[in-house]
Amino acid sequence: MKNNKTNQSKAISAQKPIRLMVFIHDDLDGYDKDKLYNDHFAWLKTELEEISGRGVLIIFNSKSTLPEMTNYQYKNESFYDSGHGWKAMVKAFTSKVEEIRPYDPDLNKFLLLTRNPINSSVAGAAIHKGQSGIASIFYYMAPAHEIGHMFGATHEDADVIYDGWWHDTIMKADWATTLRGNSYRFSDKNRENIRNYLSQFD
Ligand SMILES: [Zn+2]
Repeated sequence: MKNNKTNQSKAISAQKPIRLMVFIHDDLDGYDKDKLYNDHFAWLKTELEEISGRGVLIIFNSKSTLPEMTNYQYKNESFYDSGHGWKAMVKAFTSKVEEIRPYDPDLNKFLLLTRNPINSSVAGAAIHKGQSGIASIFYYMAPAHEIGHMFGATHEDADVIYDGWWHDTIMKADWATTLRGNSYRFSDKNRENIRNYLSQFD
């Protein structure tokens, strides 16, 4: 069902929440979960809630709950193959629990959080407007970046903010080669892209 645009502000609190299922890869065993949350997700939750007016739930899953997901072999010379292998795992998982716990394909996203990049040049991968992604903690903004892709944000619409120093917005993708800082927010255009994507859903 489509939202009635004129009614949107009134309907906001009734809109379904965004649910981010984060699978913490086994190679992050021993990492402090609070630190992982604070470094990579706490500010993203605030950003997505401000953009969308929806609640954002971030759920950490680790080896003890889903061993077959958290030991996925993500390292691959082809980030495409790695991303699509993970997509297949997510599909197998969601169809297995379909009866008892259906996941909303549009508002529930599945991110594999890894210690290392996928290969020497790629820190993450996600399907544009899709349900699955992989991101390394190697860069602070990589998880937010891949989640951004899943909600319709693009590299083209990223920008750099100057406030005494240059800070990249989340969808800039050249972290390894820049001296700029992190802005921990999406560009105005990408905020709009995410809003447009979400406005299709209840
Ligand atoms: Zn990207």
